[in-house]
Amino acid sequence: MSENEELEEYDECVVCKKITSYKKTDNIVFRSGYIEGVGQLCFICNQTRKMHKTGSYEMNPEWTRYGGKS
Ligand SMILES: [Zn+2]
Repeated sequence: MSENEELEEYDECVVCKKITSYKKTDNIVFRSGYIEGVGQLCFICNQTRKMHKTGSYEMNPEWTRYGGKS
C-alpha cells in the first residue's frame, strides 16, 4: 500500500486529466460527475459542464439525479 499505488487507483478527469477523489473501484452509482461511456469528471469540470449544458451529456438521466446534490 505505497502512496504511488494508491494514486494509480484514483480515476482521473477525462477532460483535464486531474486526479479525482474517486477510486477506479468506486461504484459509479455513488460518484458525482461520472459520465457513463465517457468517464469521470473532476469537480471543476463537472461544474463547468453543468453551466454550459452542451446537450450531449443531458441525455444521461444520472446528471439530473445527482445535479442538485453538490
Ligand atoms: Zn477536470
